[in-house]
Amino acid sequence: MTLLTNHLPTAELQAIDSAHHMHPFTMGQGLREKGARVITSAKGVWMRDSDGAEILDAMSGLWCVNIGYGRDELAEAAARQMRELPYYNTFFQTTHVPALALAQKLAALAPGDLNHVFYASGGSEANDTNIRMVRAYWAAKGQPERDVIIARWNGYHGSTMGGASLGGMKGMHAQGGLPIPGIAHIDQPNWWAEGGEMSPEEFGLARAQQLEAKIQEIGPERVGAFIAEPVQGAGGVIIPPYSYWPEIRRICDAYGILLILDEVICGFGRTGEWFGAQSYDIAPDIMTVAKGLSSGYAPIGASIVSDEITGVLDGIEFSHGYTYSGHPVACAVALENLRIMEEESVIAHVQNTAAPALKEAWESLGDHPLVGETVIKGMMASLALTPDKSRRAAFASPVGTVGTRCRERSFANNLIMRHVGDRMVVAPPLVITPDEIEILITRARKALDECFELLRAEDLYHSA
Ligand SMILES: *Cc1c(COP(=O)(O)O)cnc(C)c1O
Repeated sequence: MTLLTNHLPTAELQAIDSAHHMHPFTMGQGLREKGARVITSAKGVWMRDSDGAEILDAMSGLWCVNIGYGRDELAEAAARQMRELPYYNTFFQTTHVPALALAQKLAALAPGDLNHVFYASGGSEANDTNIRMVRAYWAAKGQPERDVIIARWNGYHGSTMGGASLGGMKGMHAQGGLPIPGIAHIDQPNWWAEGGEMSPEEFGLARAQQLEAKIQEIGPERVGAFIAEPVQGAGGVIIPPYSYWPEIRRICDAYGILLILDEVICGFGRTGEWFGAQSYDIAPDIMTVAKGLSSGYAPIGASIVSDEITGVLDGIEFSHGYTYSGHPVACAVALENLRIMEEESVIAHVQNTAAPALKEAWESLGDHPLVGETVIKGMMASLALTPDKSRRAAFASPVGTVGTRCRERSFANNLIMRHVGDRMVVAPPLVITPDEIEILITRARKALDECFELLRAEDLYHSA
């Protein structure tokens, strides 16, 4: 008998999960003792669990459900496509309508001359494509030695061997002998934690100039590309000072290296424009997209590539592709998602309603005794937990001790808010209403209050 039911008692579902399901980024033993939360259905920004709790998902799943849960149109688009053509590949001089139509749509939405789309099933795969594409491009141009890609510490580019190598998560590198050869890292523009006595603008400039120093250290003739997120997401919603991106673009131009923007979170309205590239007025050579491309309803990602790179690659056979590159069902779902975003003016809702309301509400948390900086760009926001705001101090306890407690108090109040170390992060569905934002902030403040009580009870409210 197949077990596709939500109706078993929660404890039984948890026991089966614990016996057979390996969870990503999870310590199995800890989860086994607690039992996983079983989500059974969702609508708009609200999820329901197997005990009937109504949970406000302020993380859009994993930063992806931009148009909210429960849109029948996407289910219909998937069913229609499955009936008509559930699968075909685009390898052997073949194509199909969903793949070409979505590519045309993405070319129209993407900035500048990014007019060509190479599909994957998610962001990690698309970044693996980018590594191979950049190296194939430079080889085809007669400069095969330009195989180094520079990325950033505390950046996130996925969990495959290539994606995790580009990423700057040291814990991930430690498992599996990463990074792969030919990847280098520079520091992140995280002013709160690392800016010292500099002003944010001075610090942003200094961190951008690390790119130039790293290019010179490696040798300008060896460097093929720089990759970064417009705003770091998984790293804790780190919003770069305004001085940062113009300097990065200047340096890429000066050395003729390609700029890859990883828009997997920032893309499709998250920063308040279609892409982070537009929010920061940066012209990339390649953009990585996934997550919000289908609002998470189907697994799909892509590299959106410039005329120049595509022109060079046209002269070779680029020996790369995935069985599910341009999967027709995923493409059909993404097209329907983009149609809804346009016809319902989701980005205008962000700009005129949701982002201003979230900004005001989020910044109001700044008066809480536990909260240092509060930052927000569009519909992604974070705050720093601190025992002493005036010194931007860290806690004496190991990083993440306090953040974990705050996250647990948030879950206990039926609010999905995430912690990254001792920062708290939200990125709600773009369609969230002002009333729902008020509920989000009421619950977040309650979680902070309860966390504060816990810290004092456990004697953890101390600076390092
Ligand atoms: C989530 C994420 C990825 C990885 O995407 P997957 O679909 O999980 O493979 C890559 N880059 C960024 C910026 C992300 O946030």
